[in-house]
Amino acid sequence: MSKISDILEQDTFSKADIVYLLQTKGEEKEKLFEKSREVKANHVGRKVYYRGLVEFSNICSKNCYYCGIRKANQNNERYNLTDDEILDAVRFSYENRYGSVVLQSGEISSPKFTKRITDLLKKIKEISGGELGVTISLGEQSEEVYREWHENGADRYLLRIEASDRELYHKIHPNDKTHDYGNRLKSLRQFKK
Ligand code: SF4
Repeated sequence: MSKISDILEQDTFSKADIVYLLQTKGEEKEKLFEKSREVKANHVGRKVYYRGLVEFSNICSKNCYYCGIRKANQNNERYNLTDDEILDAVRFSYENRYGSVVLQSGEISSPKFTKRITDLLKKIKEISGGELGVTISLGEQSEEVYREWHENGADRYLLRIEASDRELYHKIHPNDKTHDYGNRLKSLRQFKK
């Protein structure tokens, strides 16, 4: 068998395998794409699932260096959709048979913000009779807040960690209390819990 076929038969890949795959051209690249279509068909079939992503605000209290909407960036027109605008987008998603919606914004932590999201979650569940899945992506919050949102209709939470290596994490975030590596890990553990 050729080298590419050998690699594509594997379940796990070494760094050298991945570098090899990323450099494929011509016939080898076609084999890679063929394998990728096969894996996709086995796992999710030929259906396409729509997800309605509502980025309802770009206002953020943090300053991650890589991010265009960080607080210190003055070259940014800030916006914050109204609840009615958000719910119109949700209605559109439901009426057009989307499977789920995602509410995403910059990170704000305040009782007013928490309540706003809780109220929106309840309304989204009402609009779809609980049929629309709801993901939220609203940054680091306390365990109580995560719990409140989950109990009021959030099915999933999206929270990335841009670097799991502590040193690298501090290179791409300000090294202060608001951008604490430990807090990020804590949040991720709270979700598992
Ligand atoms: S918390 Fe999110 S939105 Fe805010 S600056 Fe960091 S990456 Fe950007």
